[in-house]
Amino acid sequence: MDHKPILCLDFDGVCSMYTSGWVNAWTIPDEPVPGLFEFLEEAFKHFRVCIYSSRSEFAAGRDAMHAWFKANAIEYFMYQKETEGAPREAALKFVNKLEFPVSKPSAFVTLDDRAVTFKGTWPEVTTLRGFVTWNDHLIKRAPRNTVVSNG
Ligand SMILES: [Mg+2]
Repeated sequence: MDHKPILCLDFDGVCSMYTSGWVNAWTIPDEPVPGLFEFLEEAFKHFRVCIYSSRSEFAAGRDAMHAWFKANAIEYFMYQKETEGAPREAALKFVNKLEFPVSKPSAFVTLDDRAVTFKGTWPEVTTLRGFVTWNDHLIKRAPRNTVVSNG
């Protein structure tokens, strides 16, 4: 049993760039945020790392995040880190350190692109209403007032 404190990582907009916008819980079209795997290597020394997202309530969502980490960790170990020997095995061992809980874990700290740290003073609701994420300008979405057809 690992007694390290839990670092809870949001998925979309923290692990994944999330520039394509929401498709569904099990479709992840975007690449990792640069530096993700370097960050995780350091984080594993200090924390149990839990990936928790609105995708987490669905088995297919958790599976998709796990598969996404696997594919991108293999890329990282093979081509960025140029791991000697068995990069695929190194990547799988790395991804196996991640946890994918179904419900929100009791975290020491959380990293999320859609949260404001509460410091005992209530923020202005209008400030919250105007919240934008760090990558909001990169997200591809239909222009406002456009009717999007499903057919
Ligand atoms: Mg997010």
